[in-house]
Amino acid sequence: MRAGEYAGPSWWPVKLLRETAHEGVRHLWLVWLGVSALAIMLGVLEARLNWSGIPIQLGDATVGLTVYPPLFFSLLLAIWLGPMWGIIPGYAAGLVSALIGGLTISQSLLFACATPVEVLIVWGTMVLLQIHPDLPRARDLALFAGVGLVAAAASSLAGLIWIEVRHLDVLSGARIWQGWLVGDFLEMAVLAPIVLRLCGPGVRTWVDQQVPAPPRLTVSYTRATVLVTAINVLLAIMVARGVALMLHSVSANPLWASPEAQVVMSHLREGLTFMGLLLLVAMALGMSFAMALARLGERDHSRAQRDALTGCLNRRAFGALYRREGDRSRRLSRPVSLLFFDIDRFKMLNDRFGHEVGDEVLDLMCRRVSGALREHDVLFRWGGEEFLVLLPHTRAPEAAAVAERVRRAVADDPLGRDANAEPIDLTISVGCATAEPAPELPDDLLHRADAACYRAKALGRNRVESARADLIVISA
Ligand code: GH3
Ligand code: MG
Ligand code: MG
Repeated sequence: MRAGEYAGPSWWPVKLLRETAHEGVRHLWLVWLGVSALAIMLGVLEARLNWSGIPIQLGDATVGLTVYPPLFFSLLLAIWLGPMWGIIPGYAAGLVSALIGGLTISQSLLFACATPVEVLIVWGTMVLLQIHPDLPRARDLALFAGVGLVAAAASSLAGLIWIEVRHLDVLSGARIWQGWLVGDFLEMAVLAPIVLRLCGPGVRTWVDQQVPAPPRLTVSYTRATVLVTAINVLLAIMVARGVALMLHSVSANPLWASPEAQVVMSHLREGLTFMGLLLLVAMALGMSFAMALARLGERDHSRAQRDALTGCLNRRAFGALYRREGDRSRRLSRPVSLLFFDIDRFKMLNDRFGHEVGDEVLDLMCRRVSGALREHDVLFRWGGEEFLVLLPHTRAPEAAAVAERVRRAVADDPLGRDANAEPIDLTISVGCATAEPAPELPDDLLHRADAACYRAKALGRNRVESARADLIVISA
């Protein structure tokens, strides 16, 4: 893996399902609906047959184990397709099984958040820590198991609601809680890794073939912070609700009926309320710090990707973008083209008008070039007065046509006037290269575009040349 390459899961937004005219997307729809229905049905079975806290004898100790299949399916859907694809069936299954289990509607609506919270914690951590979805390395496995434990512990808080509603005594309540924790942990840290390692590569290739759009690869820092905030808020609500229910069940006990006990209870209530408020303030502070850091991170990231003078994307940004377009080109067997251009006799312009004017001309030229490009074409400042344009889904003749439009946009009108009202003219020499599909590394394509640009210079400048292997279009 190359340095700086994103290695975490890729995903599609659920709005992709609107593209139902595409046959592959319809397949995806059907499979998702089928798996979701299966998850919900197994959730119903779990509630009906009560697979919660099944006692398992381990030597002298009895450990509670809960089998909750919807979590397993939601997690796989989230990792292979995207977070919402897992959260929707996870929430639906939780809601249905809670209602069947006898919870009221408001209790069920909260209770059903447990699986989405788990799925979000695991998926969000995979993105942020770049855990590969096929878990190929020991590092991926270890991190995945660790986050599985955290997520299981977080969601098991919802068990408090279950325990209260069922009026369970302390022992069987503890077994339910334990069962939830152990069961979810086993599903996420043992069963899911086996399936992800064995079936992941095959499933992800199949999904890739069904979808015309490229998957998303990275989350912005701000979105990541919003995600973490949302999880924290949900957890805080669950804890608050759980503590309130515990207090309620304790105070309902006849042992607490004496006036002395009532005084202790009211102190306990005050103390817990105070601690709850402190926790809220600490959370709000932590979140606002995280937001501020996220914004700073985003600004740094954007600065690292852009050239300060012209605002164009830079060479570093090209690497990531080429990888994404290259993947897509190979997956869909589509062509990719590159334009490489260099300003003609720029040294002379600098000598004649000064370096500052040269800088202004560079900036102005970039705006002209951007205006001549199509919506999906991307301009990069490669260095000095050399530029690169990435043309996705573009064959050689179209690339040559775009190159010619760019050349004209620069050459046809002067880029301003000097102090003596003399026009400042500028021309560029452009080289085009095309590959179908795109090679894994851009080096060969870059080299051919560069060589074509060099030829355009040798043939007199202010012209477009296509790489020898492609269609040759010469214009002047
Ligand atoms: P040609 O490419 O047509 O062969 O001639 P040229 O004069 O453009 O030659 P070359 O590409 O070798 O020169 C690059 C010049 O571009 C040298 C340098 O002064 C100028 N240059 C590079 N970066 C900047 C910049 O950021 N601002 C300004 N003003 N000039 C720059
Ligand atoms: Mg040059
Ligand atoms: Mg030059």
